[in-house]
Amino acid sequence: MSGNATSGIVMPEPNADVIARRAEIVAAMRAIVPGEGVIDAVNEMRPFETDGLTAYKQLPLAVVLPSTTEQVSRILAYCHRNGIRVVPRGAGTGLSGGALPLADAILLGMGKFNRILDIDFDNRTVTAQPGVTNLGITTAVAHAGFYYAPDPSSQIACTIGGNVAENSGGVHCLKYGLTTNNVMGVELVLITGEVMRIGGKHLDSGGLDLLGILVGSEGLLGVVTEVTVRILKKPETARAVLVGFPSSEAAGECVARIIGAGIIPGGMEMMDRLAIHAAEAFVKVGYPLDVEALLIVELDGPEAEVHHLIERVAQIASELGCITLRASNSEEERAAFWAGRKAAFPAVGRISPDYLCMDGTIPRKALPLVLARMEELARQHGLQCANVFHAGDGNLHPLILYDASKPGELEAAERFGADILLLCVEVGGVLTGEHGVGIEKRDLMPSMFDETDLAHQQRLKCAFDPDSLLNPGKVFPQLHRCAELGRMHVSRGQLPFPNIPRF
Ligand SMILES: Cc1cc2nc3c(=O)[nH]c(=O)nc-3n(C[C@H](O)[C@H](O)[C@H](O)COP(=O)(O)OP(=O)(O)OC[C@H]3O[C@@H](n4cnc5c(N)ncnc54)[C@H](O)[C@@H]3O)c2cc1C
Repeated sequence: MSGNATSGIVMPEPNADVIARRAEIVAAMRAIVPGEGVIDAVNEMRPFETDGLTAYKQLPLAVVLPSTTEQVSRILAYCHRNGIRVVPRGAGTGLSGGALPLADAILLGMGKFNRILDIDFDNRTVTAQPGVTNLGITTAVAHAGFYYAPDPSSQIACTIGGNVAENSGGVHCLKYGLTTNNVMGVELVLITGEVMRIGGKHLDSGGLDLLGILVGSEGLLGVVTEVTVRILKKPETARAVLVGFPSSEAAGECVARIIGAGIIPGGMEMMDRLAIHAAEAFVKVGYPLDVEALLIVELDGPEAEVHHLIERVAQIASELGCITLRASNSEEERAAFWAGRKAAFPAVGRISPDYLCMDGTIPRKALPLVLARMEELARQHGLQCANVFHAGDGNLHPLILYDASKPGELEAAERFGADILLLCVEVGGVLTGEHGVGIEKRDLMPSMFDETDLAHQQRLKCAFDPDSLLNPGKVFPQLHRCAELGRMHVSRGQLPFPNIPRF
């Protein structure tokens, strides 16, 4: 792997035979995707060598940019017949390395699939190609007062196909659900080239919930070529409240009490001191700088209800000793309250040469405990950590600050990150909330799943992709070859088939 040879991430050994056949493979791709849809010059492939997890880089065998489902089908069928690996890619904003290329794999960029295909207000659905941006869906229906609820902070750039693959979330997912709760149907191309449709405009379908399996499958089961999502009518009123606390623990307790009181805010986010200062310096929206933690709580619905809920939130917050409390009084002010939060990642990028954005989920009640333990871990690892997260969902995004040019700092950041994720699991949470497993959390999977769990997940993968050609090396710590699954049994320390690479 180029870019960071010292990192502990081990990727599948490239297949030398495939690399030797590169010219022939590129020619075959050009026969399927004419014009500028195939890129094989090193300089032109550079923009694709990494994703949002920029610590890792790898040039692909070639980049292929199809624009029709038929082309995707022919590309996958060719790769299937010829044993060539494929890494699907949307906008490359993923934070867990899901779209990281492999030296012997085609990088299948879906950026040319950028059309809205159908807007159906009667059924409240939009059908879009997978390369349409998340925000592009809302933009397409905003004139009629509708929107698409899941709103990752990267929504101006990330694609709906990437959102489906990662089961992405955002500020408004607390009340309106993650991608999986808002996707109603997809068109999917299997590694064999077969095209299948799952779900549609209707709410439920017979048989197994394949849509549920597909959303969040990180490009391991098939390539999504069309997505149907539900859209919602914009709420009559939405107001945001900024609440500052003298400690992260008090803010964490406030989050738990608001939910415990039966209030489901449209969004409830938290930032700690480092993140508040970075965001304020970047976007200058008037965040209080004398607090240790800031909550942004959005209440939406009919005006009278919103007014009542703001009063209840204010009462809970003051019982817990908040030191500032401001409710937005105009749409501009509400947008300004959110602007700092939405820009928090790039804002932290201004104060540190590099950062790792972690993503773990914990039961809300454990927030105060986990925040206190994370401060201890920061001291222990000698690195700073800014916290920005979807507090209402218990979805943490600790941003670990480091300097990749200092020897050992990336490794220290990785160890710190792993400790945070293990802490999430220890308190009853999970390794990821919305960024996916990718390569980042792959090797931690056994801390959450036992052998039986992992074997069953891999069997599912094998049912779709028996030769492990789609996005190998991601998600599973050890991708057993499908044929040996079920026979994988270590007896007296002897691993069966010791010569077979476990990818
Ligand atoms: C500044 C910043 C803020 C972010 N904020 C959030 C946030 O608030 N919430 C959140 O959930 N995420 C967030 N993310 C992460 C990222 O934007 C999401 O994971 C997003 O869904 C990735 O979309 P993408 O189009 O960039 O996909 P990529 O990064 O290109 O790919 C992601 C995964 O999807 C697979 N994939 C892509 N397209 C397809 C397809 N058509 N078919 C099958 N598989 C496919 C890839 O193989 C890969 O495994 C943020 C990222 C950044 C950089």
